[in-house]
Amino acid sequence: MWGLVLIYLPIIIIGSLFGWLTELLLVSFFIHIVWHYYYLNKLNNWLWNSKSTVLPDGKSDWEHAFVGIHNMQQRHRKRRNNLASVISRFREGSEALPDAVVVFHKSGEIIWCNRLAQFQLGFKWPMDCGDNITNLIRNPLFSEHLKSSDYDQPLDLTSPINADKVLEFRVMPYAKHQRILIVRDVTTYRQLDEQRRQFVANVSHELRTPLTVLQGYIEILGMQSDPDSRQGKAINVLDQQTTRMCSLVEQLMTLSKIEGAASIDLTEKVNVPALLTQMENEAQALGKKKALQITFSIEEKLLLLGDEMQLRSAMANLVYNAVNYTPQGGSIKVIWRSCSTGAYFCVMDNGDGIAPEHILHLTERFYRVDGSRSRDTGGSGLGLSIVKHTLNHYDSELNIESNLGEGSQFSFIIPSSYLL
Ligand code: ADP
Repeated sequence: MWGLVLIYLPIIIIGSLFGWLTELLLVSFFIHIVWHYYYLNKLNNWLWNSKSTVLPDGKSDWEHAFVGIHNMQQRHRKRRNNLASVISRFREGSEALPDAVVVFHKSGEIIWCNRLAQFQLGFKWPMDCGDNITNLIRNPLFSEHLKSSDYDQPLDLTSPINADKVLEFRVMPYAKHQRILIVRDVTTYRQLDEQRRQFVANVSHELRTPLTVLQGYIEILGMQSDPDSRQGKAINVLDQQTTRMCSLVEQLMTLSKIEGAASIDLTEKVNVPALLTQMENEAQALGKKKALQITFSIEEKLLLLGDEMQLRSAMANLVYNAVNYTPQGGSIKVIWRSCSTGAYFCVMDNGDGIAPEHILHLTERFYRVDGSRSRDTGGSGLGLSIVKHTLNHYDSELNIESNLGEGSQFSFIIPSSYLL
């Protein structure tokens, strides 16, 4: 404003004195506009045509504007360089990973992938940039997994370019509206796992026949000898140990069968209430010795679709565990009822309970809280492992709540999709 006053005030005074005010003002406006156009043109040339980072000369306000634009450019350049170095660090890190990495938009368009993704998934870079990931990994399970938005569990699929390879797909939310896919070749692990399962299944199967023969002879010998004699006592111990071994072998075979089972056949109907009624009679008979109070609350019309053997094993293990680990005079409650998300099964007891540090490990194979107590009850440490693997097939999880000295509660929910 002061600049304008300094230029135009003398012109107005001189113009008024000599009677040329309009002419003088027009001439000064014209010169002023030409002067501004000159610098505007300089600025345009510098911004659009010149590659030079040196500032053009400017006078008064134009000099100020040139310096401001230059500073802004410097700041942007710095920020761009920082971003470029972050991106290049990310890319270098991703290239160094032993896994395939793909970054894609929430809607599926591929943004970037590393070299291993090209090798393991057959992506072509940069041709596949912008393509939808489900067009390149054509598997309905993968598409469903992406849609579900529940990425807690990884997904195992055969490789899209090699049917002999098993790949583990792990999706994670990344930046805003983006996802990152990490793919690992797990063929060897899965093969080893399958070999281990087959080995255990075969060994258990081979052990069953000689054990049955032994049990038969021990029973005959037991009948022929006096139970109070030394020989009778030895035969009794032999009988107990072979019975334990038989139950261990049975449990191992059940676990291998459940582990190796394909996905649930949803055409088979399982009458859970009938199964539980039968279990109730057995539990009452077993609990009589310890005067246990056992109550079953069963919703009669609540049937499931699936595998009867697996469901019976899972439920029976929980019920018999409660019977085995609840001391004299204790009480057990079993519930089977519908709930908002499916069918709810729960076994509660007021037994000794389990210390918190053991709870996370209970479903591991052969894990027992107290080896000697488990041995007394004929336990093998495989029961809860069987429950866990069965529930995996039903997209469910075992929930364990327990307090030392107060009792335990084992429960699970079978999702509505498995209800009849
Ligand atoms: P086991 O064949 O030894 O019973 P499980 O896998 O069924 O093996 O159980 C693992 C361990 O969990 C058991 O050894 C026992 O110590 C503990 N457990 C299971 N159920 C109960 C329960 N209802 N109350 C207390 N402890 C339990």
